[in-house]
Amino acid sequence: MNQVFSKLLIFMAVVLLISSCNGKKSEHESDHRSNDERNSAHSVSINEHHKGEVAHRDISVDHQKHQSTHHIDSLSPALAFEKLISGNERYRQGNFKIGGANQTDREKLIAGQHPHSIILSCSDSRVPPEIIFDQKLGELFVVRTAGEALDNSSLASIEYAVEHLGVKLIVVMAHEYCGAVKAAFSTLEGGDAGSPSLNKLVEDIHPRIVSFTGKEPSNGFVSESKANASGVASDLLGRSEILMSKFNEKDLDIKTAIYHLNTGWVEFYSNPKNNKLKIEKVHRGLASVEGKVERKANVSHTKKNKH
Ligand SMILES: [Zn+2]
Repeated sequence: MNQVFSKLLIFMAVVLLISSCNGKKSEHESDHRSNDERNSAHSVSINEHHKGEVAHRDISVDHQKHQSTHHIDSLSPALAFEKLISGNERYRQGNFKIGGANQTDREKLIAGQHPHSIILSCSDSRVPPEIIFDQKLGELFVVRTAGEALDNSSLASIEYAVEHLGVKLIVVMAHEYCGAVKAAFSTLEGGDAGSPSLNKLVEDIHPRIVSFTGKEPSNGFVSESKANASGVASDLLGRSEILMSKFNEKDLDIKTAIYHLNTGWVEFYSNPKNNKLKIEKVHRGLASVEGKVERKANVSHTKKNKH
């Protein structure tokens, strides 16, 4: 009888052991499933962002939160840049996209505009941004002045597009054989550009091309024009707190380019001044944050003393 009882005990112990192991395995599997579910939910959300062409420069939680609260239709600088590159490619091949400027498109845009890029370019009739980037209604916010010069109106127009339309990419585009750059170059050592307004225009360009004073001009004024556009890009940040703050938050990118008249190629080139400016302003930004903290501490100290 004892033997039967002890066999029964052993049997029960084995059953308990097996069921306990299965339980652990099932918890483990459940962990895996929930991880997979989490991963799959994450990839669905990323795919949905891709589908909606919603901006995501990086997929950090904070950034996504920011995207969800502001300008949900805005493209990231990288995606906007891709659109410009592929559009310029289509233009050069004469393979323009169809549609985008018909009755349906006009009606769609009545409710509002969500351009993906701001183009600051010269007013030169050979450089129309919508054509050379093959972009249609509602896609580009364009500001054009001779020599892509900056004045209050052009800067305010750009600030409006960044702040109120949520555009995250600015392209400052120069071009070969720019008449405004040529006029500025030829008056570097003095001279009249033709009118008070034209003199103001060339005076705005002079500091950006001052290093070319007394030199032979480059072919098609390409070097001078590139220097001018780089200077304009830096001035955008230097003259606008709105743009500088978005740029430092990586919520805005500024690119410089030059358009080649013969090939139709928009050549993007780096603007070394941007990084320098960014560092200087970041330091300034930190100083002001520290200042605020100090002021706050002083205020609370004063309040405490009052009580
Ligand atoms: Zn020009």
